Amino acid sequence: MAKITLDNLAHSYLPNPQTEADFALKALNHDWVDGEAYALLGSSGCGKSTLLNIISGLLIPSQGRVLFDGRDVTTAPTADRNIAQVFQFPVVYDTMSVRQNLAFPLKNRGMDAAEIARRVQKVAAMIDMEAQLDHKARGLTADAKQKISLGRGMVREDVNALLFDEPLTVIDPHMKWELRTQLKKLHQDFGHTMIYVTHDQTEALTFADKVVVMYDGRVVQIGTPQELFERPAHTFVGYFIGSPGMNLFDAQIDGAQARIGDVTVPLGGSYAAAGRTQIGVRPEFIQLSSGDAGIPASVRRVEDVGRHKIIRLDVGGQTINAVAPEGFEIPADTNRITFAPEGINVYADDWRVTPQGAAA
Ligand code: ADP
Ligand code: MG
Repeated sequence: MAKITLDNLAHSYLPNPQTEADFALKALNHDWVDGEAYALLGSSGCGKSTLLNIISGLLIPSQGRVLFDGRDVTTAPTADRNIAQVFQFPVVYDTMSVRQNLAFPLKNRGMDAAEIARRVQKVAAMIDMEAQLDHKARGLTADAKQKISLGRGMVREDVNALLFDEPLTVIDPHMKWELRTQLKKLHQDFGHTMIYVTHDQTEALTFADKVVVMYDGRVVQIGTPQELFERPAHTFVGYFIGSPGMNLFDAQIDGAQARIGDVTVPLGGSYAAAGRTQIGVRPEFIQLSSGDAGIPASVRRVEDVGRHKIIRLDVGGQTINAVAPEGFEIPADTNRITFAPEGINVYADDWRVTPQGAAA
């Protein structure tokens, strides 16, 4: 296992990048702590695979260095990095049996037959393919082949890191949860450094200790699920994480108050913010009210989603979401919303502003 350091790393697929926009991965410094489980989360095209492939050595970055435990591996081939990588689509040997496919990474390293048999059996149980061990990979479904790919990624116990690039895309929905649980268990048992790429927030938040959120080629926040929920560092994080995501209001910020139109909103702290200023409020921190305090709002629709209700409101032409517990009855005279001050974050040009006198 290893600590992986990214030192001033950036990548452009163009031969002569000129502006920042030419970089698929913008400059980044980060240590992936040895033994931690990370999720790399972001929408399609934001640079997740680019970053993962630089770590595994499939891609040489146009700028910066990759270090494993302090050793520069920036230009070292994948084979020298002692890494297992699982891709979005299956990579299996069709003419080999499931057993031979799973054994391959071990046989390649000259491991003795009894130890190979033990590990293959164990991994076959994890991916629920014990009954098919002697079937040829050819003829199996894409789903089964992907499980073999996952198994091959998990079979070695001595790797520096395990990298997964959206590995459950072609897996049957009911099996996804099971496999994710197995990956988590593998992490608990062996403590490998794991990086799991996904565009699915539920997958990211349930799998990882730390979530690395990417947006437009940039790492915008690295944090625990709770940090991403309570203090989204960028409006994208607020909107992307949570269901529904954070609401944003254009607001003028004046110390410990925000002004939205002609309504004054008390903030939980004092702020100095310049540029395009907004406040972000998660649906959990929006309260319905009536009378003349708060921001004028009208209830458009209520959706029952099991354990809670989502209330869709119209606020000056903008749709705002609030959530309420299952049994909550929406008062008929609702005509305003108010915010719990501790649930308000302030943004300037999309980046969170730290309240004065507070630690970030
Ligand atoms: P993700 O995995 O988050 O979907 P990628 O890392 O694959 O994103 O892609 C990031 C950006 O780089 C995208 O704009 C994509 O079109 C571009 N890109 C990816 N691979 C290549 C390539 N081989 N050549 C040129 N552009 C690429
Ligand atoms: Mg990708």
